[in-house]
Amino acid sequence: MTAPGTQTAWAQDRAHLLHPYTDFATFADEGSHVIGRAEGVHVIDAEGKQLLDGIAGLWCVNIGHGREEMAETIAKQVMDMQYYNPFGHSTNVPAAQLGAKLAELAPAGLNRVFYTCGGSTANDAAVRLGHYFFDMKGQHRKKKIISRQNGYHGATYVAASLTGIHGTKYGFDRIGEDFISHVSEANLYAKPEGWSDGDYCDYLVREFEARIQQLGPDNVAAFIAEPIMGAGGVLVAPEGYHKRMYEVCKAHDMLYIADEVVTGFGRLGEWFSSEALFGYTPDILVCAKGLTSGYIPLGATMISDEIYGTIARPQCEGGIFSMGFTYFGHPVACAAALKNIEIIEREGILNHVRGIGPYFQDSAQSLLNLPIVGDVRGSHLMLGIDLVSDKASKAPIELTEQAAAKVFQGCMERGAIVRPVGDRIILSPPLIISKDQCDELIGAVAGSVQDFIASQE
Ligand code: PMP
Repeated sequence: MTAPGTQTAWAQDRAHLLHPYTDFATFADEGSHVIGRAEGVHVIDAEGKQLLDGIAGLWCVNIGHGREEMAETIAKQVMDMQYYNPFGHSTNVPAAQLGAKLAELAPAGLNRVFYTCGGSTANDAAVRLGHYFFDMKGQHRKKKIISRQNGYHGATYVAASLTGIHGTKYGFDRIGEDFISHVSEANLYAKPEGWSDGDYCDYLVREFEARIQQLGPDNVAAFIAEPIMGAGGVLVAPEGYHKRMYEVCKAHDMLYIADEVVTGFGRLGEWFSSEALFGYTPDILVCAKGLTSGYIPLGATMISDEIYGTIARPQCEGGIFSMGFTYFGHPVACAAALKNIEIIEREGILNHVRGIGPYFQDSAQSLLNLPIVGDVRGSHLMLGIDLVSDKASKAPIELTEQAAAKVFQGCMERGAIVRPVGDRIILSPPLIISKDQCDELIGAVAGSVQDFIASQE
């Protein structure tokens, strides 16, 4: 049965909303899929159809949907004090408590937090803090940032320019390559024929060093990377890659910014993955999404004690760190984040992910038996599936065939939501997913890929 108000909502949405990353022309024909309710690992659409949420909303609903405790916490904080300005020297209790909690969870030495409204603004803040740091050290030219092709860092102008996904450039003048320069992504599936993983890693590190030389080490402030590239295809870098890139940063007096917007808060079985899984401690760590499990927007940029020591010195040139959002340290969002973290701790969700993650990855390997599945990769509860037209040559499937979009549709019909991105399918379920639900999700993908193959014959 269609939920009351649904037809009106569908029409109002179609008449008024500018949806993110959406082709407005096709949107006018199709409108939106109205989702009305959500509970645990499921969402329920306006027709009453229950769907297994294979993408955790958008990589964010880590503790699952519809938790009453979250609602109660949010309501209580609204009643206690929903907002007061955070500028200068005023604060609120949840913001302060969350700061202490984040410092406890983050790698040692990352003890200071700048709150933002989400991941994009947290990446903007990372760049601003990096620039401010070098300015305070008198290195005024050290401003350029190196990012990676296919990395995703957000949608504000700076974050979109850090982003290296081609489609996001369309229709915009991005901030020029003289300020933000992109090196290759680390994509083991696309490494040249005959190269070992080690050769490929050497190549990527050499390319990075050469780019720094080309831009001039005195001009380059930072490198930014996701520990595992998410929207760019769930790309897991070769062993040792991040640590070596980090060492190159240190050799050139550059900052390493880890964008843990997706990988933070348990998706890889750790609070943060950069140090715990990849062996480097970033100078700046950016998080959002799983910080509140999407119950309310919040992002955070954490900086090292070294950076803080410099920017907190009595200013020789005067001035202050002139950046801040009205909603910095929003009490309701910070209270929600604290409760979300408490739930992750109390229910042992990191441990659950350490167990279910390898199970999910192993079962997904069965998809490789399908003739158009070229690669299945990921770690824990991040999974990327490449669809190809020819396994031997790894030739991607023609985008005009809309294979990923059709697999997405097929999964919907089977009661599961996956994410189509170009010729890929991405999965990132809520962290509370069970083994049976993992099987159901992989089964939906397998069945839908088979249907797509049959439709081509
Ligand atoms: N960084 C990464 C790695 C992301 O995946 C995203 C969002 N998908 C962002 C930053 C941007 O976050 P937001 O959409 O909250 O601004």
